Amino acid sequence: MKTYYDERHLIFSRMRLKPGTDAYQDYYQKQPHLKAKDDAMRGLNITEKLRVSNHYKSLFFPLTQNNKALLKNWHDFLEHHPLKSPPVTIPKHFSKNIKEIAKHFGADAVGIVRLTDDHFYSHHGAQSDDIGRPLYGQKTDKDYRYAIVYVQSMNRDMINRAPFFEEMLETENVYLNIAYTGFRLALYLKSLGYKSLFQSEAFYLTPLVPLAYDAGLGEIGMANHLVHPEYGDAIRIGAVLTQLPLEADRPIDFGLEAFCKRCALCLMNCPSNSIKPHPRIVNQRRFYKFDDQTCFQLWKNTGTDCGTCLQSCPFTQGIERTTLDWMKNDIERIDRVIQQHLERHTRRKFIKKPLSIVAIEEE
Ligand code: SF4
Ligand code: SF4
Repeated sequence: MKTYYDERHLIFSRMRLKPGTDAYQDYYQKQPHLKAKDDAMRGLNITEKLRVSNHYKSLFFPLTQNNKALLKNWHDFLEHHPLKSPPVTIPKHFSKNIKEIAKHFGADAVGIVRLTDDHFYSHHGAQSDDIGRPLYGQKTDKDYRYAIVYVQSMNRDMINRAPFFEEMLETENVYLNIAYTGFRLALYLKSLGYKSLFQSEAFYLTPLVPLAYDAGLGEIGMANHLVHPEYGDAIRIGAVLTQLPLEADRPIDFGLEAFCKRCALCLMNCPSNSIKPHPRIVNQRRFYKFDDQTCFQLWKNTGTDCGTCLQSCPFTQGIERTTLDWMKNDIERIDRVIQQHLERHTRRKFIKKPLSIVAIEEE
């Protein structure tokens, strides 16, 4: 039996619901078990409790403060961009060109998925409120045939400062870069005559991890992130949905399931015990049980989006491609690789010294 994703269930949508509204009443009538904990942490201001000086805040918070406005402009520009008619005829195997073009626009790795009904959210949540599109509760537009899915890697020096501000800065930065890549690609495809749109942190039609898995960009790790064989967890995923006919890729298997069973470093390092080792299969893809409320509560308590799980993954710190093949599904070899990782990086590679981008020199 197929499971259909519904964006209204995401914690980022739930946190936007306003008590007293019909949407709020309706949601918690159907999901009463989530109400008490959600109410206790409602609201999206994560940085409120960040333990830095007001001077620090006034210097560095503006680095990301216009991101949503930029996203809004890109989404609006794309929507009003004319669709060329008639469409340009597409040569055979043009998928190869499309992948190179996506890289030209900023992607590090690209794959293609033929879309089916269950890739899409059934209904919109509240995220798109941020770009002036109040779509909550509306059915999503599923009139797209393919997704061009891509990842962009994050700066390891910044990720290794998690849960400090550098990690959050990099996350926000790559979210924006991902959206800009998607914006340019979708604009190009409309200029060829094919209906297309890009997803961004403020507008989704599909969840991204199942798409990226199906596109062959990585496997799903214990923290429920996509783990890319080269970049590990230190990535953000983007997707352009289109009617352009393309050639689909397939999922890959580099042995992550067996590796996660021996590793569990993300679980051990998670400060809120949100990561669980218990698999749950959704539409034939292996995910793991996860507590989104304890994770988000930790964000609100500490004032950053944490990211310790991204930093903990041995794949984030880098595992050679030849080692990957050598240890695949071999428990003894996996244990040796994990042991080497622990000797080199300890249980968690964490660098306390602030990066120069946010270091303040006192007079
Ligand atoms: S972000 Fe932090 S609290 Fe949330 S799952 Fe990852 S390690 Fe745990
Ligand atoms: S840290 Fe270990 S258990 Fe967690 S996703 Fe990475 S490899 Fe898997």
